[in-house]
Amino acid sequence: MSTIKTFVRSVTDLWSLLVGLQITGRYFRQPQITVHYPRNVVAPEDTVSYRGPIALVPHPRDPTKSKCTACMICVAACPSSCITVVKAPVPEITPEQEQAFQEAEARGEEVERPTAPREPVTWINDFSLCSLCGLCVEACPPRCLTFSHDLYSVGTGRDAFKHDLLIPYPGSLKPPPPKATES
Ligand code: SF4
Ligand code: SF4
Repeated sequence: MSTIKTFVRSVTDLWSLLVGLQITGRYFRQPQITVHYPRNVVAPEDTVSYRGPIALVPHPRDPTKSKCTACMICVAACPSSCITVVKAPVPEITPEQEQAFQEAEARGEEVERPTAPREPVTWINDFSLCSLCGLCVEACPPRCLTFSHDLYSVGTGRDAFKHDLLIPYPGSLKPPPPKATES
């Protein structure tokens, strides 16, 4: 009985081995689909379905700016707290402008004081913490976040993964320079 069992097991094992070798042989004959990074890179058309680090969508009327309105909803939605957005500040008013506003108000005129542009001056995603869950992409009301197809997010330290999403947008507002401290 035990001899029959051993024989059946040997035949089953041999069959499994042959099936495995057949699969290996089939793939061995197919063209290579991996690339030798960094000497070679994947063709852009082969990365369209890849879900890479998040990116901002360009503004439809001005592609030098992102579509972000600095509403901060993605910051609240991110479970990993890896998004930092800083809104553009209210433009500074010169003393002359302030005086003109006050005089106009004294005359009973309706004064429209400058307000903060609805734009970010800083937009950082700490990709070392990001789980690519997509909650920020879904939460963004103007639909200005998307997943990039960037395969090559590499670095030698954590700071390399702090992605500045405004870099592709040279028309973005810049953070105001730090105020000089009085000595
Ligand atoms: S994909 Fe998820 S973890 Fe990554 S930034 Fe968006 S909300 Fe945060
Ligand atoms: S990316 Fe979208 S949700 Fe986030 S601050 Fe900009 S507009 Fe708001």
